[in-house]
Amino acid sequence: MTQYDYDLFVIGAGSGGVRAARLTALGGKKVAIAEEYRVGGTCVIRGCVPKKFMVMASEVSHALEIAEGYGWSFEGAKFAWPTFLQAKDVEIARLSGIYAANLGKAGVDLVHGRAVLKDAHTVEIVGKNQTITAEKILIATGGRPWKPDSVPGIEHAITSEEAFHLPELPKRILIAGGGYIAVEFAGIFAGLGVETTLIYRGPNILRGFDDDVRAHLAGEIEKRGIKVILGCQHTSIEKTETGLINHLENGMAIETDVVMFATGRVPYVQDLGLEAAGVELNDDGAIKVNRFSKTTADNIWAIGDVTDRMNLTPVAIREGVAFHETVFKDNPQSFDYEAVATAVFSQPPVGTVGLTEHEARQACSGGVDVYVTRFRPMKYAFTGSDERVLMKLVVDADSQRVVGCHIVGPDSPEMIQLAAIAVKAGLTKAQWDATCAVHPTMAEELVTLKEKQAPTSMAAG
Ligand code: NDP
Repeated sequence: MTQYDYDLFVIGAGSGGVRAARLTALGGKKVAIAEEYRVGGTCVIRGCVPKKFMVMASEVSHALEIAEGYGWSFEGAKFAWPTFLQAKDVEIARLSGIYAANLGKAGVDLVHGRAVLKDAHTVEIVGKNQTITAEKILIATGGRPWKPDSVPGIEHAITSEEAFHLPELPKRILIAGGGYIAVEFAGIFAGLGVETTLIYRGPNILRGFDDDVRAHLAGEIEKRGIKVILGCQHTSIEKTETGLINHLENGMAIETDVVMFATGRVPYVQDLGLEAAGVELNDDGAIKVNRFSKTTADNIWAIGDVTDRMNLTPVAIREGVAFHETVFKDNPQSFDYEAVATAVFSQPPVGTVGLTEHEARQACSGGVDVYVTRFRPMKYAFTGSDERVLMKLVVDADSQRVVGCHIVGPDSPEMIQLAAIAVKAGLTKAQWDATCAVHPTMAEELVTLKEKQAPTSMAAG
């Protein structure tokens, strides 16, 4: 029998790769993991975690406005971008260190360098003259931001990766895109006092989300001072002595200091040596896998964003666990992508789980019951703010199961985690209603919604 250096070699030390490597090493196997940048991957180093710190820093300005309504005053309150950046970077370094330490404690060998497949069992560590063999290989290299090269001047635009390290806070920013990253960063910069414009090519932001959520959020972020331009794209970006001029299809020319493109992410498969190992890509350029995350090569699996299934950190982690159970514990498991809750950390944020109204109308043959409420949160009572919360339940009319829950408003990411348990469990509207309210909270509205609403969002989701 062939002797390999390792039982498992993992390429990419992000959320999914690290979880799979640790579990497998703790199970007694010989495991190595390669990372070309910093341990922790997109989530920890240039995604969810630093983004959430930026959101929290940014939200303070709104909290101060609310506080003034309650009688507080903060004359001369100021935000220092360099102080924030330094504190954030210290914390990210600490978290990355914990990830690396945990790998060590589990007995995983950490290889600093870029691993490239030479064949189905061999990787080369670029520039290190090192070749490593493994019986099984797991690819967890994640994704990379993508910008449309067709826009003249696109080289002047940054992506989210640079947004985490801007040398100074711009006075004016324009963000292109209408997905998670675009709306999250628009909120961050607007909250930090940056004059912010969001431009999106479609009819409304957050395509794929419930239409009421999309309309509500677009209105709320405008109340927070973000200028939203819909149905429009760049024709070019021009660098001048005073800034960057965004030339748009509608004839507008908007000058800003920074232009950020948040136009999606693509699987990071470049120069990985996939062909040499017999690993095929699908039509969208992601690694082709079956439901057990196995690639077209018999001993190679892939998880997380590189497979472009559901690009969320907790999903990559679950895919890593399922891989470990299937491959090393003889317990075939595949992740269940139904009713995965997700949050958009816009300001206000969005929490959502299950089907949109549009999806439910297609899926539920007996029709759907829709319950919607919009109200001003108690917290804003003294501020004169006209911000509103949206809560929406989508119910399968026949079974009366709540198949979708959508919230726009403060703390909605926290609420949706718990609502997701009920949606995932398939509880009925009557069971939600039998749950006694917690008063006075916003979340109590979820168990006190009585009036069915005539359908409001029939447009394609
Ligand atoms: P998304 O896929 O969410 O959004 C990309 C946006 O860019 C869409 O609005 C899309 O428009 C637009 N777009 C695409 N191509 C072009 C183009 N050529 N010109 C103009 N606009 C274009 O990607 P993100 O980059 O926002 O995020 C990537 C993924 O990362 C998310 O899908 C999500 O899975 C994950 N993520 C999750 C977060 C969370 O959980 N909170 C936070 C951040 C990221 P259209 O809709 O018309 O296609």
